[in-house]
Amino acid sequence: MAASKQLYQEVILDHNRKPRNWGTLNDATHQAEGVNPLCGDRLHLAVKVNDDAVEAIAFEGESCAICKASASMMTTAVKGKPRTEAEQLIHEFRDMATGKLDTEQQPHHLGRLTVFSGVKDLPTRVKCAILPWHTLHAALNSMATTSTEADDDPMHEPTPGGVA
Ligand code: ZN
Repeated sequence: MAASKQLYQEVILDHNRKPRNWGTLNDATHQAEGVNPLCGDRLHLAVKVNDDAVEAIAFEGESCAICKASASMMTTAVKGKPRTEAEQLIHEFRDMATGKLDTEQQPHHLGRLTVFSGVKDLPTRVKCAILPWHTLHAALNSMATTSTEADDDPMHEPTPGGVA
């Protein structure tokens, strides 16, 4: 436990000091703004999709350390990947951060992103970690803006077996 916490802190610090893929893209095909009003995180994500794969991706904005580190790691994780794999990572990351996916027991493709598995125990931080993924989902599905508090939350899924 102590080792994973230390790794988590090192990764967050490292990605805050030198965020990967920071900036914008001149030839973006998909873009979205993400906001997390609870924390004040705001980020702009630019994606270039070519041949149904994420050819290039960049982000910038004002956010807390967790959000920035999550965005930075997300860009490195999805860059070069087919869109379907990017979408799969979005869902796996969300399930991990909300405690629905146990990364030690269940199969997944998150790799080093599992350093964020601890956020499920930090309710106020879950949305900070998820926001970049939310925003990527919105960008890939051509929604201009997304908010972790919006009614039309693109990450919201109907309750299985719920009442219609
Ligand atoms: Zn935040």
